[in-house]
Amino acid sequence: MSARSAYQKYALMVQPSRIDGLGVFAAQAIAAARKIGEIRGESISVDDARIRATRSERIMIVELSPRRAIDFSKSNDPMRYTNHSCRPNARLDIRQGRVEFYALRAIAPGEEITVHYGETHHQGRLECRCGAVGCSGRL
Ligand SMILES: [Zn+2]
Repeated sequence: MSARSAYQKYALMVQPSRIDGLGVFAAQAIAAARKIGEIRGESISVDDARIRATRSERIMIVELSPRRAIDFSKSNDPMRYTNHSCRPNARLDIRQGRVEFYALRAIAPGEEITVHYGETHHQGRLECRCGAVGCSGRL
């Protein structure tokens, strides 16, 4: 499935991932340090975010501050499918209610785009299957 939204700078594909469920893959070469795209979601309180996180295993919420969070679960942007890796090829940058993705290194066509989720609401309850050398084994 080819996927493109107004917020993506590069052609991306959403397809089954070896890591988990669906992943987002580069459909063209992406140079190191370039902005890949961004996702926008629903602005909610951190209290609501914690309630939603307890109800769903597959959720994507990013906390912006001690009080505000964004829920991307209903977003149609392909980058919401970005999987975690303990050795990612991209990073998140959170600014003003949106999450931007930047390449950490050159990414080849067909490579899955991954980021390090950092602190998640899963609190180590999910098994990490990223397969990277030095994988922590937990999310
Ligand atoms: Zn891992």
